[in-house]
Amino acid sequence: MNLILLGPPGAGKGTQAKELSVRHKLVQLSTGDMLRAAAKAGTKVGIEAKAVMDKGELVSDEIVVKIIAERIEQPDCAEGFILDGFPRTLNQAAALEKMLKDKKRKLNAVIELKVDYNRLVERIVGRYACAKCGEGYHDRFKRPKARKVCDICGSTEFSRRDDDTAEAVTTRMLAYYRDTSPLIGYYFAKGTLRSVDGMETIDKVAKDIEGVLAVRS
Ligand code: ADP
Ligand code: ADP
Ligand code: ZN
Repeated sequence: MNLILLGPPGAGKGTQAKELSVRHKLVQLSTGDMLRAAAKAGTKVGIEAKAVMDKGELVSDEIVVKIIAERIEQPDCAEGFILDGFPRTLNQAAALEKMLKDKKRKLNAVIELKVDYNRLVERIVGRYACAKCGEGYHDRFKRPKARKVCDICGSTEFSRRDDDTAEAVTTRMLAYYRDTSPLIGYYFAKGTLRSVDGMETIDKVAKDIEGVLAVRS
């Protein structure tokens, strides 16, 4: 099964993609995570991308398409993947369609997470992650079970994203509106769009996603 999780910054794509990947044994492909890893590793592409990301703008289609094209060639993606944060432009959607066609594979569903603007901002500004294993947390909505200790790996170090600032968030929302929201219409017209209420709790959203996937098959 090949899926896309679509939605504005902070909608819960990463959170749900991770849970889905475990439940269905799919590979989670987050272009945001890949770009942040490249930046941390200090590669040329990573350093270039970081300057763009920190402002809240989109990285070029050329760079992200190349990253995804190389990644889905890997054997672990053969059984299926969840794209989280890709495609983000109509150009990227066209490139993905071509990649899948060349491999004789198909897209099973595009899951749209719908969340109100104020809630998105609240989720973004409270977001942090384990510095060691990357597990995502939230100041109010998803705290570690033991105070300041990661549930998954026991680490006590956490980090916040450089682009989760009020200024970058405004730019990211505009980039979403301008470049990414047209994808909702695009996948609606293709009959693959499945919309889910992303305002619910993490567990309820996960259940609702399973619900729309069950209807499909
Ligand atoms: P969010 O969790 O807020 O949706 P991501 O982690 O998916 O954010 O992406 C963070 C940043 O990485 C984006 O603001 C953008 O600069 C860059 N990025 C990630 N995926 C893409 C993509 N598919 N196309 C262009 N830029 C991307
Ligand atoms: P995205 O990948 O779409 O940018 P994330 O999955 O990183 O979004 O979620 C943004 C923040 O909101 C994280 O801190 C996460 O723990 C929290 N979060 C995700 N889903 C929910 C939800 N349904 N209810 C409350 N908080 C959530
Ligand atoms: Zn951890």
